[in-house]
Amino acid sequence: MTDNPEWRPCPCAQPADESPVAWRPRLVFAARDYVTGDAFTVVECPQCGLVRTQPRLSAAALAKYYPKSYHGAAGARRFPSVVEWLQNCLYAGRAARVERAAGGRPGHVLDVGCGRGHLLRAFQRRGWQVAGTEIDRHTAELVRAETGADVRPGLLEAFAGADGGFDAVVLWHVLEHLHDPAQVLRDCARLLRPDGTLFVGVPDVRSWEARIGGNKWFHLDVPRHVTHFSRPVLRDLLGRAGFAVLAESSVAPEYDLFSFVQTMLNRLGLRHNILYNALRSGAARLFPMDATDWLQVLVSVLLAMPLSALFLPWMLATVILRCGATVAIIATKTSRLPGGGQTG
Ligand SMILES: [Zn+2]
Repeated sequence: MTDNPEWRPCPCAQPADESPVAWRPRLVFAARDYVTGDAFTVVECPQCGLVRTQPRLSAAALAKYYPKSYHGAAGARRFPSVVEWLQNCLYAGRAARVERAAGGRPGHVLDVGCGRGHLLRAFQRRGWQVAGTEIDRHTAELVRAETGADVRPGLLEAFAGADGGFDAVVLWHVLEHLHDPAQVLRDCARLLRPDGTLFVGVPDVRSWEARIGGNKWFHLDVPRHVTHFSRPVLRDLLGRAGFAVLAESSVAPEYDLFSFVQTMLNRLGLRHNILYNALRSGAARLFPMDATDWLQVLVSVLLAMPLSALFLPWMLATVILRCGATVAIIATKTSRLPGGGQTG
């Protein structure tokens, strides 16, 4: 693995540590992109436990793995309207939770990787001043035009110079798309005012669903997901970046049932994520579907019924034992500075 020219040490490695065998990553499994069929490996850092997709692709190479349909066409829905309605209810609840953690009144929020701006709108409806970043320039312009919010193309660097200017920063299913999550969290800390609130959500690569799914897990999504987190690793990264965890949850209803069903269908040998692709509206499909694929969709729908019935006891167990497929954490910036590494 370390012989691969595109292999890089884990971001946790210090410059002096870069070559020793002790840093050789442990192979978790090989995995393919379900859109292109390209092969990748998923490896774990023996030092910090961060799981990563290899080889590490440049931003330009990675951009090719985001089809134009990934965010959906302008003005069009990605999913059926009932799903989008459910999403809006859930985002409203999340904005309310962040507001409670941030002192119970509206403030200034930055949504990093805001996508189509669902969460941003939920904050706006509560009276927040909202800002966002989105890596896809066209989507950023679209959301800016639709909401009037200060949405800039790019990542955190788009708000360089706004240090201490935000009451809350949101990283909702974004961190797994980024190569150096430790640096991103340090940058978030810098953008937040003292005692500011961070809201972060990621898939949990050590969850039961991930263990059953293996390289067929719905949330694995290589190579678009370049880092993969477990709860202890995420909590550790947050602590090192100067955050204290206030609350942790593993319920994300818009994902949970579906990712369980789709993961099981993938494991049963159906085409990877075929139901997910079928449910996306025509312009947002990630791969074209032929007649055989639609037959598989029919089989998937039939199997989805018993799988959904299985999901209820499964969900209760994962909620009680806190091992759901995704994790959401609300953290607060502590006045205590992390030991070193606070430079940008
Ligand atoms: Zn590491």
